[in-house]
Amino acid sequence: MKITRISVFQKNLPLKEPYWLSGGRLRFDVLDATFVKLETDAGITGWGEGTPWGHTYVPAHGPGIRAGIETMASAILGQDPRCHEAVERSMDLCLPGHLYAKAPVDLACWDIAGQSSGLSIASMLGATDEDGTWIASSVSSGAPDYMVGIIERYRALGYKIHSVKVGGDVERDIERIRYIEAARLDDEHILYDVNRAWTRREAALVMNAVSDLGITVEQPGETLDDIAAIRKLTTTPISVDETLVTLQDAMRIVTDGIGEVFGVKLNRVGGLTKARRMRDLGLANGIQMYVMATGGSVLADTEAAHFAQSLPPEFRLGTWSCQEMLTIDIAPGQGARNLGGKLFASRTPGHGVVPDEDVLGSPVAVYDA
Ligand code: MG
Repeated sequence: MKITRISVFQKNLPLKEPYWLSGGRLRFDVLDATFVKLETDAGITGWGEGTPWGHTYVPAHGPGIRAGIETMASAILGQDPRCHEAVERSMDLCLPGHLYAKAPVDLACWDIAGQSSGLSIASMLGATDEDGTWIASSVSSGAPDYMVGIIERYRALGYKIHSVKVGGDVERDIERIRYIEAARLDDEHILYDVNRAWTRREAALVMNAVSDLGITVEQPGETLDDIAAIRKLTTTPISVDETLVTLQDAMRIVTDGIGEVFGVKLNRVGGLTKARRMRDLGLANGIQMYVMATGGSVLADTEAAHFAQSLPPEFRLGTWSCQEMLTIDIAPGQGARNLGGKLFASRTPGHGVVPDEDVLGSPVAVYDA
């Protein structure tokens, strides 16, 4: 089987409410999404998505995905999409780095391989469990009672996992965390997500002041070096998110004991083929994981649902349903949807999502073999 055509679609995905990133990064109202359709000489078509969380969150931006695919197109065309490692190597040789531009191509290849074998992506990744994955809410930073109010709204929708954004003033963060933990129900888990906003000193002060609460803090510093330094100053468990990008990052985190949890964002790490190696390294080293898209439509969420389901339940901490923050749905009625606070990977071959091309509009680029 060979890839014969690559069609690239750009779609703006408006947010229901504007979003402010922590740490003074910019506000945005819309996500710049890229959808990739791969066609093959076997008549099987696969779809992938790359949707950065704005342009200021991590080094990834929408136009960069489309430019990267233009550069890599000749290396992708003619490849057998079922041979994930061969496609990966072709892309890596053609364009070093730029993992976020490769992820949608990788997903489309997994979609084709699944359809060709009759297996869902979750099954190809080894999943037998169908319990689904708890969706984490996203709770913006604010006054403590305002934040608990948001948690209560999510709780009413069935959510049990909350990603609570902190990372401001030290005293305020200590107050927020203590107030929110006091309001937490026994069967709820809360991840306190700093999104890189603390200095080393601020991280040490807050994490030591709340060390009696048994909480987990995500990305308490800007870089992996910062988090390695913070790790030595506190006993509070750490999840590494934004600075887990490559397999070498993952190896350093487990070998040096920098964090106890991986935040695996599939687009950031370059897609399922690369994420699968991180998963195995994590499982071999007692690392629990959150698995999410960096953002995007039901297609990106569905990819995460398939991957998350391949984790043993005790290692699978949560996922995200970004689709619920958008005003448009690119594949109505398809893919993983919020069912009682969980996302489930279906048994449909591949990932089971075919975007509506009437919604996407005409492709912005088409590359033929
Ligand atoms: Mg995070």
